[in-house]
Amino acid sequence: MTRAIVRHVAHTIKPHPNTAVRYEAGCQRCAWTAVPSSEGAIVDEQCLVHAGRSNHRVFTRSATGYAFVVREGESDAPPAVR
Ligand SMILES: [Zn+2]
Repeated sequence: MTRAIVRHVAHTIKPHPNTAVRYEAGCQRCAWTAVPSSEGAIVDEQCLVHAGRSNHRVFTRSATGYAFVVREGESDAPPAVR
């Protein structure tokens, strides 16, 4: 009979320090999209300008970034991003 030993290892997830978050936005009334930026305030400003010119007031917004998982007891040096 084969026996298996199962152990639980705690994991945590962290934002990757060597990458930037990418902010994007798009209007829900037309096809307008903001120029993506690493600064959310710049994308928000573009939405405000679009709303002022068009009276379109609803936008999708997204922030995309990298994260990495660290196992308890291992180095928390972030792996390279491809
Ligand atoms: Zn619009």
